[in-house]
Amino acid sequence: LTSKLPNVGTTVFTTMSQLALEHNAINLGQGFPDFPMSEELTALVCKAMRDGFNQYSHMNGVPSLRDGIAEKVSALYKTNIHPNEQITVTPGGTYAIYTALTTILQPGDEVIVFEPAYDSYIPNIEVNGAVPVRISLQYPDYAIPWQTVKERLTAKTKAIIINSPHNPTGVVLSANDIQQLKNLVEGTGIFIISDEVYEHLVFDGLQHESILRYPELLARSFVCFSFGKTYHCTGWKIGYCIAPSALMKEFRKVHQFNCFSTDTPKQIALATYIHNKDAYLSLAAFIQKKRDYFKELMSGTLFRPLTSHGSYFQCYDYSAVSNEKDIDFATRITKEYGVTAIPVSVFYKDGEDNKVVRFCFAKQEETLRLAAERLRNIK
Ligand code: GLN
Repeated sequence: LTSKLPNVGTTVFTTMSQLALEHNAINLGQGFPDFPMSEELTALVCKAMRDGFNQYSHMNGVPSLRDGIAEKVSALYKTNIHPNEQITVTPGGTYAIYTALTTILQPGDEVIVFEPAYDSYIPNIEVNGAVPVRISLQYPDYAIPWQTVKERLTAKTKAIIINSPHNPTGVVLSANDIQQLKNLVEGTGIFIISDEVYEHLVFDGLQHESILRYPELLARSFVCFSFGKTYHCTGWKIGYCIAPSALMKEFRKVHQFNCFSTDTPKQIALATYIHNKDAYLSLAAFIQKKRDYFKELMSGTLFRPLTSHGSYFQCYDYSAVSNEKDIDFATRITKEYGVTAIPVSVFYKDGEDNKVVRFCFAKQEETLRLAAERLRNIK
């Protein structure tokens, strides 16, 4: 077999979670909450199953859920989205991103991707025969160097992937960043894939600059979201994509012959629960408290926090603790100290190593306390 992804191994999330399990470590690596999801939403799924919603759903998503999504985004982002033509419910945000890239890419196309980059982006580009054009976000602020982006555009540039709040750094794009993006793509045929799965996890009073707020940008975008991140049920694997009708029509051609449709009872449950505004509007404050709590605990260690204004994650510089490679360091602290983190070099194709690891703070206070206590002992 000629591999379509010859340079790809097993994703870091699987390897680190496996390692955590083997060593009975506290897993602050893979991003998932360790506290329960809503009772009400759980009951709604059980009810949907008992009510017989167990067969294929509409291939584009349960209509009442798409109506609910359109209503929600219109209130949040002051935009008018057509639920039948512009929204497709997908088995997760990652799937939505993959489908969007597969919809637009031809072999040889170039896609601008910022590193550190969520680990599915580059394989998603390469499996389509396209070429990732990697631009480094400079440690420790990880801001997008817009001038460099401009210089790297070519006649082959097909798309730019943006991600705010950003995984792994927690950096949040500003209105000025969006303006720069607007200037850059104006008059070009460049598409935008916007990964907004952490849309409700924006802290410190900042606003989530969704592409949905910007009609000129939305006209060339696939905007991808996740229910798992919003409702503490990452194992559900349900998300959705919003795009202009013409692009969504092509997206659906790919989607229908991949998984065809998404889990029915959960969509039925979400179609009701999505109207509970408090459930998502209270999320940022709830998770920000955890970021702050963990940061306070970590101030008793030699780890130095980098800025995080959003997501489930905060990166920490460990150079005062060790000068090991980050992968070795993350492996060693799992084995010897019982705490797992994600080494940030895995989010660079060439393995750039700034001695930074990513911790997931979407955990119970007790979990964070115990983890920090162990990290205090590291030499
Ligand atoms: N998005 C999650 C993270 O960054 C992991 C998802 C996965 O395991 N593939 O930790």
